[in-house]
Amino acid sequence: MSTASVVGGGPSGLVAAEVLARAGVAVTVHERMPSVGRKLLMAGHGGLNLTHTEPREPFLARYGGSAGRLAPMIDAFGPEDLRAWCAGLGELTFVGTSGRVFPEAFRATPLLRAWRARLAELGVVVRTRQRWTGWTDPPGSADGAVGLAFVEADGTRTEVACDVAVLALGGASWPRLGSDGGWVGPFTERGVAVTPLRPANTGVRVGWTETFAARFAGTPLKHVALSVRGRDAPPVRGDAMVTTSGLEGGPVYASGVAIREALDADGRCVLEVDLRPDVAVGRLADRLRQRRPKDSASSWLRRSTGLDPVATGLLREATGGTLPDDAAATAALIKAVPVLVTGTMPLERAISTAGGVAWSEVDDHLMLRRLPGSFVAGEMLDWEAPTGGYLLQASFSSGVAAAHGALAWLAGADPG
Ligand SMILES: Cc1cc2nc3c(=O)[nH]c(=O)nc-3n(C[C@H](O)[C@H](O)[C@H](O)COP(=O)(O)OP(=O)(O)OC[C@H]3O[C@@H](n4cnc5c(N)ncnc54)[C@H](O)[C@@H]3O)c2cc1C
Repeated sequence: MSTASVVGGGPSGLVAAEVLARAGVAVTVHERMPSVGRKLLMAGHGGLNLTHTEPREPFLARYGGSAGRLAPMIDAFGPEDLRAWCAGLGELTFVGTSGRVFPEAFRATPLLRAWRARLAELGVVVRTRQRWTGWTDPPGSADGAVGLAFVEADGTRTEVACDVAVLALGGASWPRLGSDGGWVGPFTERGVAVTPLRPANTGVRVGWTETFAARFAGTPLKHVALSVRGRDAPPVRGDAMVTTSGLEGGPVYASGVAIREALDADGRCVLEVDLRPDVAVGRLADRLRQRRPKDSASSWLRRSTGLDPVATGLLREATGGTLPDDAAATAALIKAVPVLVTGTMPLERAISTAGGVAWSEVDDHLMLRRLPGSFVAGEMLDWEAPTGGYLLQASFSSGVAAAHGALAWLAGADPG
């Protein structure tokens, strides 16, 4: 019987373990934490947005420059497959607002419990508190076995020989959940190129005035559209949350790549917030021209544009406190309030990680070209995507792809 070691008990590792075990391989999952699936459980606190129902082309476009490499994996195990897989574990899914897919339980606990039971039935052995530290030296034997090195909870070192390995060690956000990016060292020591790990789907820093931060932190800017000045990325609509030190929320995360590019190029970035994305600038100006003589600036704005206090506060932030009197200038400002971004929140607080094992290092079946028999899956690969279910979908799809690549390797076929 062939043996496989799956290192990392997140969704990509566990689904790889399931596929391998179903094919009759003896699978051991090695996990550094006391239990598997901690980040999946954390994602469940937000409802567990598993995937998305939008059509294939826009779906794939969410992966930017990695879409081409991920497409065959998502075609082979896509949103409908993921939903069917959940249903097979007793967790029906539903389509929520804007096409996002969630389990009916709206959390991850029942799904993970059923999944662990299924893996146990398939004979998958889970070894926890085992931290992978790299490949043995040499990383495999003449007969092709892969050698992996671990440190146990008591500090002792263990070496494991297996026929094939799937490494699914995650990114480096929320390190207390297990994925801390500690794998980068062992990979680079073996000459595997790793694109630097950086925060993705994270908030941005803005130097709000004390008055604005004290009054509006925790208040959403509702139904706005964000653009990054000087970048040709399309505006992103949604609710952006004001925090004490900046902004966060869907449209901020979805603008993340453009924000990072602007920060890298110029050390600063200007976000333009359209506070009324559904109203043309000319129409706004017409409404603003109908000012009553006794109207204060705030009531004039509220009456003619419907802006709420946080939106008006943002306008004041941009103008240094005094709102413009002129209708055309005010309308133009409402359509593009400039917000100076000085940086992003650190990786530890990001939802996901950009960067990872470079695509050039793996073949089409996710096998490391330099380390035959070792496959890579999940967030540790160099792709990124906005929130909306795209992160978990690619983690599952790549886990399935790595497992199929591993099976082909075991069968003696060159998976490349
Ligand atoms: C707060 C939050 C909310 C999220 N919500 C969503 C959502 O709603 N929808 C969505 O699509 N995505 C969401 N995500 C992202 C999603 O959870 C991740 O993209 C996904 O879990 C990545 O799966 P993975 O298996 O690649 O990595 P992980 O889930 O990170 O699993 C990797 C595993 O490897 C283990 N490991 C790491 N290093 C070692 C080592 N050296 N030795 C042994 N084991 C090791 C870790 O402990 C971990 O268990 C969210 C993330 C966060 C932080």
